[in-house]
Amino acid sequence: MTEKSLFGKEKNPSNILPVKYTLDSKIKFRCHPGVSCFTACCGDIDIILTPFDILRLRKHLNVNADEFLARFTTPTFIQKTDLPGVKIHLDDKGRCPFVTPEGCTIYSERPSACRYYPVGMANFHEGGEDGVESEQFFFVVKEPHCKGHEEDKEWTIREWREDQGVDLCDDMNRKWLEIVMRRKSFGFQATMSDEAKKIFFMASTDLDKFRHFVFYSSFLKTYDVDQETLDKIKEDDIAMMQFSFSYLASVLFGTEDIKMNEDLIKERVQQIKDSQGDKEKEAEKMYDQLKGDREAMQAHLSTK
Ligand code: SF4
Ligand code: SF4
Repeated sequence: MTEKSLFGKEKNPSNILPVKYTLDSKIKFRCHPGVSCFTACCGDIDIILTPFDILRLRKHLNVNADEFLARFTTPTFIQKTDLPGVKIHLDDKGRCPFVTPEGCTIYSERPSACRYYPVGMANFHEGGEDGVESEQFFFVVKEPHCKGHEEDKEWTIREWREDQGVDLCDDMNRKWLEIVMRRKSFGFQATMSDEAKKIFFMASTDLDKFRHFVFYSSFLKTYDVDQETLDKIKEDDIAMMQFSFSYLASVLFGTEDIKMNEDLIKERVQQIKDSQGDKEKEAEKMYDQLKGDREAMQAHLSTK
């Protein structure tokens, strides 16, 4: 097992073990109804929901996005960003609404955050000699109350992730998380318009509304979207979700994931040119007027 010191020190306050794990590293962990702490981790916790979590959960619960958001979530900001999102709404005892003494009632559809625990994944981007280098590794959270670490079951990180269905979550969440990470890297100095925040929230939480926005607003006049994509996103929620991520990347960071309509771009460029032309003409007119006034004044003075 290739393990390196993660933070360069022996202790850290966040209960993250100071070790970098690879997919082949082994961990001992098991969570099951027999552990003395069973469901202890299902309260006093922020469980931020990704768009894929919301889609999966509301389909499982057979409710629309509005009802799901109202009944089961609380608005929040995604950690260290100004991006609006939602987290699971805890009950008045601070417990997840889906937990019972027998365990999680939505286990097969549980959110990504619940699947990752206690193994997290990190991506480091740092400037090396040849530019930006990135490194992916895993880390383990070991909290004192979690007795799962005392169990004998041994897995590689790869096996653990397979068992928890994490890879599917990673695939589905990847583009959205990239947007969040990119926004995070801007810090709070870079302001974002309220309109952009509203669009981010809508696309991230309510795909039906976002679909309506695509098909029943001026969206398709503004963006070039081929017929095959349109046919797909009309019916397929996963395709719609991935499309919404491309749209967010285009709107928030100016990527070309979705291209603007060429004719519209030309029209806008012409409008800008025209308005600049109008301003130039106006300036010329004013200059001529001032010149005329000055000449008249000079002529008047020379006759005195
Ligand atoms: S969704 Fe399930 S696993 Fe996650 S906190 Fe709630 S009860 Fe626990
Ligand atoms: S605290 Fe750890 S072992 Fe206990 S229920 Fe939660 S994940 Fe499982």
